[in-house]
Amino acid sequence: MASVELERLHKLFLIDSGMVEVKKKATALESGKRMALELESARKEQKLAEGKFHLVHGEQKDLELANQQIDDKIKSIDKQLFSGAVVNPKEIENFEHQKKMLTQQRSSNDENILEYWEVVPPLQRAAEAAKKHADQLESELNEWKVKAVKFKSELETQYKELALKRPEAAKGVPAPLLARYEAIAKGSKGIGMTKVTKEGTCLECGNGVAERIIILLKSDQVATCEECRRIFYWNEGVS
Ligand SMILES: [Zn+2]
Repeated sequence: MASVELERLHKLFLIDSGMVEVKKKATALESGKRMALELESARKEQKLAEGKFHLVHGEQKDLELANQQIDDKIKSIDKQLFSGAVVNPKEIENFEHQKKMLTQQRSSNDENILEYWEVVPPLQRAAEAAKKHADQLESELNEWKVKAVKFKSELETQYKELALKRPEAAKGVPAPLLARYEAIAKGSKGIGMTKVTKEGTCLECGNGVAERIIILLKSDQVATCEECRRIFYWNEGVS
């Protein structure tokens, strides 16, 4: 068993490490910023993907519209040619020539439209996928926000409870030991105590604990880790 002083110090340590833990959890709440940034970049990618799709799809639509207009013109030429109203050979030749040019244009447009048929659907799918991804991130962020508000207030309550217990726990520890512990904790991310594991290493830093330190601990003396300088809490068979 550890000495009474170390037992008391250990109680204080449990409060302190609890407070460190709460602070860590509160830091994890910062992940909301990362999620918001991810969403922002996903929306940018969505806009880019949609922009590419709309541009190319617009070009395809323009060609299809152009072909409709060509069809209308050809129909109108045919109508005039077959109505018998045009009899002048030169005028007929002129119409035939126009019709030939329009037909050529139409077939060239058709070739391009075929290419668009290849290109447009994958762009459309990419734009849809980008939107789905961004929507998903947005809904995750919104869900997270609701949880975070609740979690934050829980953490604040936990922290306050621990902070209230601390002065009483600190009172029981002899002043020199308390000062030593607090100095170590300050330089060790708030964790001023450690244990010896079953494997004979320091729980906090993993350094091997020398036999002479174990002997000190067994005789209820205060001993610190040679590597991380934290005070050992000793209990037979500590894990
Ligand atoms: Zn250590």
